[in-house]
Amino acid sequence: MSLVRAKKCLGQHFLKDQNIARKITASLLPVTRDVLEIGPGMGVLTRYLLANPDFSVRAIDIDRESIEYLHAEFPEHRERILFGDFLKTDVTDLFQAPFSVIGNLPYNISSQIFFRIIEHRDCIPQVVCMIQKEVAERISAPHGNKTYGILSVFLQTFYDIEYLFTVGEQVFDPPPKVKSAVIRMTRNERRELGCDEKLFFNVVKTGFNQRRKTLRNSIRNLLPAGFDSAYLNMRPEQLSIPDFLQLCREIEKEGEPS
Ligand code: SAH
Repeated sequence: MSLVRAKKCLGQHFLKDQNIARKITASLLPVTRDVLEIGPGMGVLTRYLLANPDFSVRAIDIDRESIEYLHAEFPEHRERILFGDFLKTDVTDLFQAPFSVIGNLPYNISSQIFFRIIEHRDCIPQVVCMIQKEVAERISAPHGNKTYGILSVFLQTFYDIEYLFTVGEQVFDPPPKVKSAVIRMTRNERRELGCDEKLFFNVVKTGFNQRRKTLRNSIRNLLPAGFDSAYLNMRPEQLSIPDFLQLCREIEKEGEPS
């Protein structure tokens, strides 16, 4: 553990509790054989993943020092442990078939990671990850909840999200300033939105950017002339995902924005 010193800028907080590492890796169900680990760091999860005969694992980390450490630690798996930036790697190049994603994510870029997962949702049926507790609560929040927001809507549109368990600060080296949580996301049945995806993303983003306003005010610039809908009297957190989709279908029916 002392061989590599954690680098704050890379969101490095190494998990040192083996029981929790085991619990996280056991949360990954064998729905795919291929598994991508984001940010293996010192390999605390990687060790259990590599030992599991159900899985064929690849791991990618942006820190060269971590990669060198892991190559020395698992010499027989060198070619599975890759140096690179998850956000800049075309992950679909790494696997022939759908793959699951696992990782104790770097918290500073967890939203960007989720947006990339959404982009590749049809080859990623399952994600198990540790993130900041607040973010976990937000993305698993149902509509009507104060913390329901952009990422909750986008992720829940495509994934069922389970909040699995909370993890305290003290099991990390160095301890982060926030509590953590492990979630599992499973791809749902929604293949088609029934409306333009860009419009949907735009309505959700624009609505939540002024979340205290009714949609009539916040998304005014996205609406065709003369358009009206009962949804416009609501604030964004009151709309379920089917509601947002229905609103977008109504907007599309009414024609282009004036
Ligand atoms: N899984 C390890 C480390 C978690 S810390 C453990 O549980 O102990 C987060 C890890 O993500 C670090 O190793 C960091 O180097 C890596 N990381 C940060 N940004 C990354 C990126 N863009 N792509 C891939 N890995 C990244």
